[in-house]
Amino acid sequence: MPDTWILKDKSFKKYITNEAIQEKIIALSAQMNTDLEGKKPLFIVVLNGAFIFASDLLKRITVDCEIAFVKLSSYHGTHSSGVVQQIIGLDLDIKGRTIVVIEDIVDTGLTLVSFLETLRKMEPAEVKIASCLLKPEAFKSKFPVDYLCFSIPNEFVVGYGLDYDGLGRNSSDIYKIVE
Ligand code: 5GP
Repeated sequence: MPDTWILKDKSFKKYITNEAIQEKIIALSAQMNTDLEGKKPLFIVVLNGAFIFASDLLKRITVDCEIAFVKLSSYHGTHSSGVVQQIIGLDLDIKGRTIVVIEDIVDTGLTLVSFLETLRKMEPAEVKIASCLLKPEAFKSKFPVDYLCFSIPNEFVVGYGLDYDGLGRNSSDIYKIVE
């Protein structure tokens, strides 16, 4: 992918290469395979943004597991709307299960707080979070991000599943906005 990318009215520059992401995923998946051994976890992939990260990560998970998908939304353009809607819900019984939620990015954390509340009502044994990216300066919530590839500054990024108004998800590298 090129070093600079124009999407609609904004310019982005290459920020985290796919090679760097894959290195982190190898380390993360090794840790997860150890932690989750014998627990038969249910991975819940948060669509749309996490689809590429989840695909790369889950191909390296070797423990017996199940995979489900939910679609949540709180973002419009480059700023979080703060309103979380669960669009495609979870139709599985998760009582007593080990759950690992897979996210593309945790920004304020508000999207996950709301989803975690929904999950807790369903009485899982434990819920862990795996995220490709975290913006610590924007993070307003208290839950731990158990498995993380990169902490990044509070800047808008695209690529590797993340979009800018629908565009940019298809890049294997991550780009950040040029203000
Ligand atoms: P939060 O509720 O944590 O503020 O926002 C989480 C969701 O907002 C993420 O799953 C992602 O879809 C979107 N998001 C947050 N930061 C960014 C960003 O820098 N770029 C893009 N493309 N989406 C973001």
